[in-house]
Amino acid sequence: MKIAVIGAGIAGLTAAHELQKNGHQVTIFEGSDHVGGLASGFKQPNWDWSVEHFYHHWFQSDKYMLPLIDELGWSDKVIFPLPKTVMYYKEKFYPFDSILSALLYPGLGWGINKIRFGLVGLYLRLSNNWKQFEKYTVEAWMRKYAGDKVFEEMWEPMLVGKFGERYAKQVNMAWMWARLKARTTRLGTFEGGFQAFCDLFAADLTKRGVSIHLNRPVALIERTADHQIAIHSQDAVDLFDQCLVTTSPKLMSKMAPSLPEQYLAGLLNLKSIGAVVLILSIKHQLSKEGYYWYNLPKKAGFPFLALVEHTNFLPKEHFGGETILYCGDYLETDHEYFKLTKEELLERFLPSLQRINPDFSLDWVNHSWLNRAAYAQPVPLLNHSKNIPDIRTPIKGLYFASMSQVYPWDRGTNFAVEIAQRAAAMMQSDSA
Ligand SMILES: Cc1cc2nc3c(=O)[nH]c(=O)nc-3n(C[C@H](O)[C@H](O)[C@H](O)COP(=O)(O)OP(=O)(O)OC[C@H]3O[C@@H](n4cnc5c(N)ncnc54)[C@H](O)[C@@H]3O)c2cc1C
Repeated sequence: MKIAVIGAGIAGLTAAHELQKNGHQVTIFEGSDHVGGLASGFKQPNWDWSVEHFYHHWFQSDKYMLPLIDELGWSDKVIFPLPKTVMYYKEKFYPFDSILSALLYPGLGWGINKIRFGLVGLYLRLSNNWKQFEKYTVEAWMRKYAGDKVFEEMWEPMLVGKFGERYAKQVNMAWMWARLKARTTRLGTFEGGFQAFCDLFAADLTKRGVSIHLNRPVALIERTADHQIAIHSQDAVDLFDQCLVTTSPKLMSKMAPSLPEQYLAGLLNLKSIGAVVLILSIKHQLSKEGYYWYNLPKKAGFPFLALVEHTNFLPKEHFGGETILYCGDYLETDHEYFKLTKEELLERFLPSLQRINPDFSLDWVNHSWLNRAAYAQPVPLLNHSKNIPDIRTPIKGLYFASMSQVYPWDRGTNFAVEIAQRAAAMMQSDSA
C-alpha cells in the first residue's frame, strides 16, 4: 500500500518504520526543514553534540522507546547519567531525586505530613487501576489523602508550573498517577543528542526506501471519489491508500475539514498549553553544586518554572566548553511570553540567575536562543478518557495519533513511539 505520514517527529518516524517493515511504500511530509519535531535539536559550529530546542531526556522505564532503539541496533549509543535534581525551599535548594531525598526535604516539616507524603506516593506507585483516579482532580484527591500541607507544598507548585493557574485546579488525578508511575531518577540521552538520534533514524528509513519530504507542509487532506486519500501540499496533490497525521489536534482539524462535525469538535475541545524556552550559552558553570534540574515554584518569584543546566548532565566539552542553560516555562499561548522578543525575555530572566549564583553577571552570556511551541503539553481534565479522539478517524483510510491521545500517560517521546506503533498496527490490520 502507499501510505502518507504527516510529520517527521518521533511518532511519524516510528510509524514509518513500522509500516515500511511490513512492506508498505511510505512517504513522510514534514513542514519544517528538519526531522525530530518537538524533540529536535540544533548545533553550533563548535559543538560536537546538538542541544534540544526543548530540554529532553529518556527514563529507564521507557518501555517503548528503549526497545525501539535496541531494534534499530543503537542501544550502545544510549547513556544514562545520574544528574542532580533539586527543589526550592526558602531561598535554598534541596536534593529531590529519590524517595529518600524527597523524605528529607524540609518543606514538609518532620511530622505526619512526611508520612502521608510517603504513603500516598507508595500507594500510587503500587496502584495499577488508573481509571479510578480520573474522576477526581489532583487537588481534591491529594487534599483528601495526602492533606492540605502536602498538596500545597509539593503538588500545587508543580501543577501551577506545568498547567498555569487556570488549569492547575482542573487536571485529573490519573495524570498525576501516570507521571509518578512512569518516571525514574536516572535520565537518558543519545550520543550526539536527540537530533543525532532523529537524523540517524531518518537516514535509516531513507535507506530502506521511505521518502522523507522536508519543507513540505500539508495544507489539505481529503478522500477522493475513487477511495484514495489526497494530500495537498504546496502545489502538488499526491494520492495514497492511507494517511497518518501526527500533528496537534488543532492542525489536524484545519488539514482535514471534511471530517464529521463531531470528530472535529472533539479535536477542538482538547485543551493544551504551550512552552517558552530560552537557551543560554554562558562562560562559567552556574550551579556551584553541579545541579542539573531546578524546580522553581511560581510563588518563589522566579520568572520561569524550570532551570536546567544541561552541562551538569552532559560534559561541556561536547559544546565547545560552553555552559548550556535552559530557562523554561509552560504557558497558555495568550501569555505575554509568547509575544515578547528574545531581548525582552532576557531582561526578565537573567537577573534571577544571580539567585542561583551571586557571581553571575550579564557578561557571562555568550549566546541565546528562544524557542516557543504553541502545542507543548495536553491538559487532561476530569474523565478525560471519554474525550480522546479515535486514532481511526471517520474518514476511511485517515488516522490521527498525537500527544493528546497517549493519556493517561504524560506526553513524551516514549509514548509517541507507543501511539505510533498502535496506529501502524491498526492501519496494517485495516488494509489486510
Ligand atoms: C518543553 C518540552 C519538554 C519535553 N521534555 C521531554 C522529555 O524530557 N522527554 C520526552 O520523552 N519527551 C519530552 N517532551 C515531549 C516530546 O517532545 C513529545 O512527546 C514528542 O516529541 C512528540 O512527538 P510527535 O511526533 O507526536 O509530535 P511532534 O514532535 O510535534 O511532531 C509533529 C511534526 O509534525 C510537523 N508538522 C506540523 N504541521 C505540519 C504540516 N501541516 N505538514 C507537515 N508536517 C507538519 C511538525 O513540524 C513536527 O515535526 C517535551 C516536550 C516539550 C515541549
